[in-house]
Amino acid sequence: MPCKNCLNKPVIKLTNNNIQLCKQHFVKYFERKVLSTIKNYKLIDKNDKVGVAVSGGKDSLSVLNILNMLKEKTRRFTLEAIAIDEGIEGYRDETLETAKKFCKQNKIKLHIFSYKNEFGDTLDNFLKKSKMKACSMCGPFRRYLLNKKSKELGFTKLATGHNLDDESQTIMMNYFRRNLETSARLGPISGITKDKRFIKRIKPLYLVTEKEVATYAFLKGLTTKFNECPHNSDSYRGDVRDLLNNMEAKYPGTKHSIITSFLELLPILKESFKGFIPIQSCKNCGEPSSQEICQTCKIVEILKKKG
Ligand code: SF4
Ligand code: ZN
Repeated sequence: MPCKNCLNKPVIKLTNNNIQLCKQHFVKYFERKVLSTIKNYKLIDKNDKVGVAVSGGKDSLSVLNILNMLKEKTRRFTLEAIAIDEGIEGYRDETLETAKKFCKQNKIKLHIFSYKNEFGDTLDNFLKKSKMKACSMCGPFRRYLLNKKSKELGFTKLATGHNLDDESQTIMMNYFRRNLETSARLGPISGITKDKRFIKRIKPLYLVTEKEVATYAFLKGLTTKFNECPHNSDSYRGDVRDLLNNMEAKYPGTKHSIITSFLELLPILKESFKGFIPIQSCKNCGEPSSQEICQTCKIVEILKKKG
């Protein structure tokens, strides 16, 4: 079967509607879908200073590419990029090179912050000293730096590369763990309360699947490597991912249904959990925290004691 719109050879079959598209029509479809997500969910306002969290992987480079196109076309907002160098040898050093190259070619200002400069050492070295799981340490560090540095850089929004697969996994994980309060903060634009201490996060890839993003990144030549972090130890997410992939293979459209149902529920969740957990300011660093001392400061303190 040829492409739905012309006689060319298809490069992808969309799972939610069985449509096959050739390279040219798929790129058009993908960019239109992301741009309509930005428009329909009002992800970007006039005069926003948007920061894009880039890792150098397929998702973040796809977001950066489309937002850059939109910025050039509309001139309604400004765009910069922010990257976190965790210090993961053989992985982050490589993906950061891709990010640097892309930003240089497209004249996008890129700010890089490292665990070594901000917390005293690389993730690789911290893990040698501690029995903590990599992602339990790295996740809070990463979120902390992205929030803090984005505010310091004056970003009004932080765009991330989360796609439909990531979000449907998170939604199901929160259901399975009875963690609805966390789900209330999800959605194409994050947050349940207006709090200046949190940078608003936007997810332009919310309605496109991982397979679609990988195809787009490949066709546009954004990255040739699809490597994964060697420390990826979140087996729970891995299990949920496998489960959803199996369901999707058997019942195409499952992931889209999870997202659509969730979006119908989201306003109710947001209303129910408004101000549910009072957010304090960490006594040590001043960043928002649900406890007196934030998770990042606690981990840093433990690591300091270990020398
Ligand atoms: Fe950090 Fe875990 Fe992500 Fe690797 S997979 S970058 S260790 S949070
Ligand atoms: Zn703190």
